[in-house]
Amino acid sequence: MKKITIAIDGFSSTGKSTLAKSLAKSLSYVYIDTGAMYRAVTLYAMRKGFIKEGLFDKEALINSLHLIELHFEYNPERGFAEIYLNRSNVEDIIRTLEVSNFVSQIAEVPEVRRKLVEQQQNLGKSKGVVMDGRDIGTVVFPDAELKIFMTASPEIRAQRRFDELIVKDETIKFEDVFKNVVERDKIDTTRADSPLVMAVDAVEIDNSNLTREEQFDLILELAQNKIK
Ligand code: C5P
Repeated sequence: MKKITIAIDGFSSTGKSTLAKSLAKSLSYVYIDTGAMYRAVTLYAMRKGFIKEGLFDKEALINSLHLIELHFEYNPERGFAEIYLNRSNVEDIIRTLEVSNFVSQIAEVPEVRRKLVEQQQNLGKSKGVVMDGRDIGTVVFPDAELKIFMTASPEIRAQRRFDELIVKDETIKFEDVFKNVVERDKIDTTRADSPLVMAVDAVEIDNSNLTREEQFDLILELAQNKIK
């Protein structure tokens, strides 16, 4: 059967990764979470002390980029590929609010983007891939057969992210999560290199009032039509 590339872009916490994972599973495609790659680079920068007291030493990170090795390994128990930073599994630790608060600044750096985009293009070169992020349909795979652009109101997105985080950390405050969502939207849409914009040929889905199932059925049908 013909294999296609599916690009899922959109604002933070629109449920891109949940959708992409289910889609990949049902089509037997590979799922790649590109946000996890930017988050892993952010974690590296934090651990090395390149981000301290709100200040970011961009040059130090750029000079160390060659020391950062990222790869994905499929975890059969969770049903998706988890991310590894220099051979250690960082899938869960990259989801904290500390990492979220810095990741968009890291993702603005053209040298970081160049390195990650190249790896993403390699990972998807055989097609049969569902990739989610901010620039997949515009920069990474401008020729993707199916492009989805997901949106939802900032309040709904912050609530979804808050519900995920509060289970792991009961000190999390909704206002902080909301602030982070709005701040990341701002940086992601206004940065000079590959800003978050909808590709002209993308299908826009506002899922503020859609259930996960409704959204999944809708997009699976779009994918199956392209594969036919
Ligand atoms: O998707 P997620 O929320 O995990 O992404 C974290 C951050 O990584 C985004 O807010 C954005 O700044 C950056 N990102 C990006 N390009 C991508 C994926 C993520 O700039 N393709």
